[in-house]
Amino acid sequence: MTKTPAPAEPPSLTGDALTREVLARSYSQSHEAVLVSDAANRIVAVNAAFTRLTGYAAADVIGRNPSLLSSGHAGPEFYARMWHALAEDGFWEGEIWDKRRDGTQYPKWLTISVIRDADGGVAFYVANFTDISASKEAADRLAALAYHDALTGLPNRLALDAQLTQTLRICEREGRQLALLLIDLDNFKNVNDSLGHHIGDELLKGVGQRLRECVRASDLVARLGGDEFVVVLPEIDGPLTAARVAGKLQSSLADCYLVADHVLYATPSIGIALFPVDGLDGGTLLRNADSAMYHAKNAGRNNHQFYTARMNEAAGERLRMENALRQAIANISPTSNEFLLHFQPQLDLASGRVLALEALLRWHNPTFGNVPPNRFIGIAEETGLIQPLGDWVLWETCRLVRQMRDRGIAEVRVAINISAQQLRNENLLLQVRGALDCYELAPGDIELEVTENTAMQNPEVNLSILDQLAAMGISLAIDDFGTGYSSLAYLKHLPIQRLKLDRSFVSDIETDSNDAAICAATIALGHNLGLELVAEGVETEAQRDFLARLGCDCLQGYLFSRPLPFDDIVAYLRAQPVSE
Ligand code: C2E
Ligand code: MG
Ligand code: MG
Repeated sequence: MTKTPAPAEPPSLTGDALTREVLARSYSQSHEAVLVSDAANRIVAVNAAFTRLTGYAAADVIGRNPSLLSSGHAGPEFYARMWHALAEDGFWEGEIWDKRRDGTQYPKWLTISVIRDADGGVAFYVANFTDISASKEAADRLAALAYHDALTGLPNRLALDAQLTQTLRICEREGRQLALLLIDLDNFKNVNDSLGHHIGDELLKGVGQRLRECVRASDLVARLGGDEFVVVLPEIDGPLTAARVAGKLQSSLADCYLVADHVLYATPSIGIALFPVDGLDGGTLLRNADSAMYHAKNAGRNNHQFYTARMNEAAGERLRMENALRQAIANISPTSNEFLLHFQPQLDLASGRVLALEALLRWHNPTFGNVPPNRFIGIAEETGLIQPLGDWVLWETCRLVRQMRDRGIAEVRVAINISAQQLRNENLLLQVRGALDCYELAPGDIELEVTENTAMQNPEVNLSILDQLAAMGISLAIDDFGTGYSSLAYLKHLPIQRLKLDRSFVSDIETDSNDAAICAATIALGHNLGLELVAEGVETEAQRDFLARLGCDCLQGYLFSRPLPFDDIVAYLRAQPVSE
């Protein structure tokens, strides 16, 4: 309760007639209820606003103790503090719950001043008060908004911080353990990007609801934002309980969701940090659960991982790799370069001729050695470094295609992988035009590959850039097809020539009837749309024959050649009977 100092000039009853008149009017006409009691705290006067507010007429209360208004909410210590302040300061104010004549209770803001007589003794107590239920309700509503996530109705980050701090204090006092589970949905971005935010929102609501249903009422479930949720288990015996709950959450979330005719999946990656071993405060626990969650992602998603100190070493390693990548890109020069392109052939299934090559980036770093693209492309994309690196790949490919042509290798087209960020940028059109002009190449000499998920992001922007590339005569392929949520309707609008069937389907084509069916359907679907089908990752003759039976057009994989350095690919192409 706030306590403000007493007014400098306490009102006095010994003023002149005019003052009395003013006081009397302001008393009777005031919108604030006024109650005057004498030194023995018997009510001597109340105004009209008092009657309106409490339902008591003056005659009902005169001579009685103001405690008849009390709701009984406040205990004796509360009143003791109030009387102490009145005796010491001559003034008290604060919030108090009272009862109206009809029994209803309401919060009021009460101010009491002591009026003293000429000798300094208490003459009267003057109490003013207003009903604050309306403003209290508004404040409560605001607080609810500030502390709740509007989409799922779960507590938000602010509420989590506050409740976690309080819960941790109790755990510390009572020597209890606590588990904090950080949950991130796998591939949620795909749903949002390909089906739209309203579908994504519905999915998040469903996830929030399932999380709430999986845990006890005393456990805390909050949404941090985006597709990140937190579950706090304040009453666990040990890590096993946390693992059991994580497993339960996983299997509940893994069930499909039906949203507006779409069957969606949202498996979780869960990171777990324990109090007190992994951190004593909410911030540390969240940070460490986050590291563990990244490990769950790297371990193939749809699993849970406990935090261990080693994980931060891994985060340090990632940071060092990011710095090394930054350095390597800054130092790109024609003479020394940590980057290199390898080329892998794509063969026409019917004739066995090499139709195209795919340029694949390689990075050799003095500290990290040979780093596979699956490790550094992601870092380059997260840090924006993919822009300069992607530009380099484009220019270097064109430079090498020129060399191939000069060495007598005609016609073979070279495919270049393009990341989502590059596609968002008009810069790509300028770079493509510039590199082709510089090395005197035709648009048909190169092809751009964008992954299915990239093509589905920002459909409007992408479509415009893809259309402009197509208008330039550049052919386009959808890479890793079958891993995203493309809709057939959308695919029809893309100015593409080729679909590259993802390696994961090809590898199990003989053993997994599902994968075989997906391959067959994709090939048929692609052909219906007038597209050429390229199968990636063909490693065995059995796979080749299977794909041949399905009518696939083009094959790429270790069966024919691994990606090779420039001189080796030139030798490989020269050794091909038809491409000489
Ligand atoms: P991708 O574009 O789907 O490339 C095909 C990947 O499959 C290559 O991996 C290739 O070496 C591998 N591969 C080809 N045939 C076989 C096979 O028979 N068996 C197996 N197991 N693998 C095979 P790589 O070179 O490690 O590249 C991985 C990914 O990194 C690429 O997948 C692509 O998404 C990305 N990437 C590579 N170079 C670039 C680049 O210059 N720019 C961008 N944005 N991404 C790149
Ligand atoms: Mg590719
Ligand atoms: Mg691919």
